[in-house]
Amino acid sequence: MFRILVTARSFAKTPGAHHEFLSANDCLVDLRAPEHPLDSTGLAALLPGYDGVILGLDQCDAAALARADKLRVISRYGVGTEAVDLRAAKARGIAVTITPNTNNISVAELALGLMFALARSIPTMAANARQNVFTRLNGIELTGKTLGVVGFGAIGREVAKRGIGLGMRVAGYDPFYSGDWLGAEVRSLQAVLAESDVISLHVPLTDETRDLVNSESLRTVRDGAYIINTARGGLIDESALYDALRSGKLGGAAMDVFAHEPPEGSPLLALPNFIALPHAGGATREAISRMALLAAQNCVAVLRGESCPHLVQP
Ligand code: NAD
Repeated sequence: MFRILVTARSFAKTPGAHHEFLSANDCLVDLRAPEHPLDSTGLAALLPGYDGVILGLDQCDAAALARADKLRVISRYGVGTEAVDLRAAKARGIAVTITPNTNNISVAELALGLMFALARSIPTMAANARQNVFTRLNGIELTGKTLGVVGFGAIGREVAKRGIGLGMRVAGYDPFYSGDWLGAEVRSLQAVLAESDVISLHVPLTDETRDLVNSESLRTVRDGAYIINTARGGLIDESALYDALRSGKLGGAAMDVFAHEPPEGSPLLALPNFIALPHAGGATREAISRMALLAAQNCVAVLRGESCPHLVQP
């Protein structure tokens, strides 16, 4: 019997084939998913005794892993691994896996939704209507505008395809991508920032991408541009973003992800041209069932010593 800890919330809360798959594969599962991601101490307290963990966005650092006496696999429920100390895991012989291509459509659709929401002030007008205020706010059309896609991976490509479908010019930046650009123009980061009416971020959080949008780069964007971040919070310097929204340099911004989640007390939340979401990019029925099943399959494959194509290296 394998003992499996689950901290990924929607994995735990959603019934479906992933639970059946684990029980059919000799797994004894403890669903211990918190409302918000655990810090290192909270995770450390849970890890002892488990062979595998299906991990949400919890802080899985070296200190937490030091308590993982039996752990052989960290099966990330999602694709981001910035909260996992990959080197510490490797040093302890713990495999780390991810669930690529399971939530890319859902995140891309949310990014598009946020683009429409910003362009037409949909959240503001809808909130006004609840207060019996029916004031029309003028917006912009997206057709003919430039959509900048930073990071041309699984999600960025789906966003680009949809932008082209809307009749937008799509400018893409990704120095590591060598596949089909799907009708997008390949540009430098500086050009994407300077030319785009809407900038959508789809890169992982790394040392190189941290604060990719900062006070300096914000000076180079088009006046009135919109920025959308459905990738990772640390990509944007939030205080520089606040200043650019307050001054009117940016027309608006929408973020599903924040440096600290949930972003309680963030001054951004008070700005009328800012939209905040609770890290809901992958929160659809379809993405959850794909992610959950693949996370369960990855976990079992490692524990059984079978090959797993979704291993991540430091
Ligand atoms: P992916 O690995 O398929 O694509 C990432 C792309 O970024 C790759 O093509 C890579 O070459 C590129 N890249 C890496 N470093 C770069 C750099 N310095 N400059 C430009 N491009 C760079 O990942 P994905 O599935 O498309 O996910 C993209 C982002 O979305 C990640 O940050 C992920 O954590 C995040 N995400 C968020 C949610 C959510 O709920 N909001 C859900 C899934 C993924």
